Amino acid sequence: MRIFSTLVFPRRQQQIFNLRRFQTTTIRRNPISIAPIQIPMDAEQSLRQSLSEKSSSVEAQGNAVRALKASRAAKPEIDAAIEQLNKLKLEKSAVEKELQSIISSSGNGSLNREAFRKAVVNTLERRLFYIPSFKIYSGVAGLFDYGPPGCAIKSNVLSFWRQHFILEENMLEVDCPCVTPEVVLKASGHVDKFTDLMVKDEKTGTCYRADHLLKDYCTEKLEKDLTISAEKAAELKDVLAVMEDFSPEQLGAKIKEYGITAPDTKNPLSDPYPFNLMFQTSIGPSGLIPGYMRPETAQGIFVNFKDLYYYNGKKLPFAAAQIGQAFRNEISPRQGLLRVREFTLAEIEHFVDPENKSHPKFSDVAKLEFLMFPREEQMSGQSAKKLCLGEAVAKGTVNNETLGYFIGRVYLFLTRLGIDKERLRFRQHLANEMAHYAADCWDAEIESSYGWIECVGIADRSAYDLRAHSDKSGVPLVAEEKFAEPKEVEKLVITPVKKELGLAFKGNQKNVVESLEAMNEEEAMEMKASLESKGEVEFYVCTLNKTVSIKKNMVSISKEKKKEHQRVFTPSVIEPSFGIGRIIYCLYEHCFSTRPSKAGDEQLNLFRFPPLVAPIKCTVFPLVQNQQFEEAAKVISKELASVGISHKIDITGTSIGKRYARTDELGVPFAITVDSDTSVTIRERDSKDQVRVSLKEAASVVSSVSEGKMTWQDVWASFPHHSSAAADE
Ligand code: AMP
Repeated sequence: MRIFSTLVFPRRQQQIFNLRRFQTTTIRRNPISIAPIQIPMDAEQSLRQSLSEKSSSVEAQGNAVRALKASRAAKPEIDAAIEQLNKLKLEKSAVEKELQSIISSSGNGSLNREAFRKAVVNTLERRLFYIPSFKIYSGVAGLFDYGPPGCAIKSNVLSFWRQHFILEENMLEVDCPCVTPEVVLKASGHVDKFTDLMVKDEKTGTCYRADHLLKDYCTEKLEKDLTISAEKAAELKDVLAVMEDFSPEQLGAKIKEYGITAPDTKNPLSDPYPFNLMFQTSIGPSGLIPGYMRPETAQGIFVNFKDLYYYNGKKLPFAAAQIGQAFRNEISPRQGLLRVREFTLAEIEHFVDPENKSHPKFSDVAKLEFLMFPREEQMSGQSAKKLCLGEAVAKGTVNNETLGYFIGRVYLFLTRLGIDKERLRFRQHLANEMAHYAADCWDAEIESSYGWIECVGIADRSAYDLRAHSDKSGVPLVAEEKFAEPKEVEKLVITPVKKELGLAFKGNQKNVVESLEAMNEEEAMEMKASLESKGEVEFYVCTLNKTVSIKKNMVSISKEKKKEHQRVFTPSVIEPSFGIGRIIYCLYEHCFSTRPSKAGDEQLNLFRFPPLVAPIKCTVFPLVQNQQFEEAAKVISKELASVGISHKIDITGTSIGKRYARTDELGVPFAITVDSDTSVTIRERDSKDQVRVSLKEAASVVSSVSEGKMTWQDVWASFPHHSSAAADE
């Protein structure tokens, strides 16, 4: 008798096989999803159908004209046929246009998106928000430096992150090394599973990510090839939707079927094979301690769980947090700051009793409403919709309050930074994206010119990580709950008889023992009943991938009553994981805009950063080059510095319009212009409105409004003012 189907692995065995953190070749999700799936199917399909009919008619009519000419038919007859041909061509071109516009308006307007991205990236590079690393040596793909405004923004984002999460939630911050010994990443599963599928140009050896090539092929065909049939379009969309589940063989077969070649050389490609994304190194001069640059910061927290738990007075729940560099040797990074080989992660591991995942502060976020994209909506082809977080948790759409609480806190964090609410959604992982042990996972995805991008992953990872490190290190990473009164409990006791198992299974004895011990109560009692009635049972050992025969003398299974004074358990962990670089890049795109110069002869760029993230909060200009004004400007600058407000003083005498244009491009929200001995004007970047305040008050007003203690509306209401562009540019 076979008592476990291959789909019902005992829990510990499953862990070995299915590790979602490691986005393995089949389960690694591409967080950047362009939107072809959302094209209204009917309209697009019928237009493709109609286009193919029109093309056939044009071709047939063309042939008819040629035949008439060849047979020297009468001129009026040829003219009529040509007229008909032209009419058909016009009809075909109208359908083409309509199809093109449907494809563009459904989010695939790649030309618009690329033009917009180019404008943003040009400004970012020109103003040194970032610089390709090692540029004077031609650079290295996937590595970027942050220049002065980029550093300031990153520091503002991180300090807000510390305030919003670590401070407000009393988290325990740690800072662990990037260089990590192999044993840690072996336990976590990264050594074996942290892979992407790669293909090589067979002649030059250049490497590509296999799924990216297939995705590019499908997307480009759908966007640019209007001649493909409705059936072909549906097939390509289907491939895009399911390719994350492709095995290496399926991916290879599709690449061959579509004739996909190396993008740069058109050479044939190798079969896909897994490539581990970790940078390998060795620790110490002997080279005997293998190590890796960490691919995430989370493991540093898990291995410190025991000490942190004691530090926290052995109380749950508690959260630890870490900000630091992570390293992933991405195969062919192409999406600028979004997919890089070294990046800053900010991760939280919130440890909680698996039997109580309520959150005392859930009511603080329960009323929030924002775009959520639950699994069911994705499966039925609907789009994300606004849901109330409290209801989503109450209905079980979000698995538990603690997970819901973090989703709400992430929403508040991102929107306060300046991420557009309408271009932020929380997408639930589909069943196939999630590890078996994960209770529920949601990604905060932000829409940019590259499509929807996963910027924050929020996962309830159950007890997987702590168990993995307990097993490997032998150090129990557990929590205790002391009972007020001792409790009588019935415990399942599984005792494999090692001598008998050794004789029967020899070298495989350890795997069989582990599998037997990993049975849950239901499985064990079922086995006990079968052994008692039949004396023998078929048992699937997942780690051997085979079924073995277990006899009655090989294992004893019983339930024993015991008095217990405490409960010892492995905590569950809820993990929000923030890709800081991705959030910052999306912020750049969401805050970027252009507006005409005063003369109307050019478009000026500006970043509408909220004061919280703006790299420089204020500029100080004397209106004209005059010693008195310059002195006053220096006094204001000193006052701003003393209250920690980043600012820039400009006494170059450049025209005021030019100065504003330069600082708008850096996203500076306020400008103080010294134009009298007693007072100054403060100009707000987005409205261009100005207020007049006394010299003495200038620094404190700018400091209050920069730090969010006052809004610009408050300032506007409190001081004499004049509205936009009255005098400035
Ligand atoms: P993961 O552990 O793969 O879920 O990644 C956690 C977060 O790191 C993601 O939500 C992304 O924001 C970010 N991330 C992952 N890979 C990269 C990369 N190659 N470059 C930049 N950010 C990344």
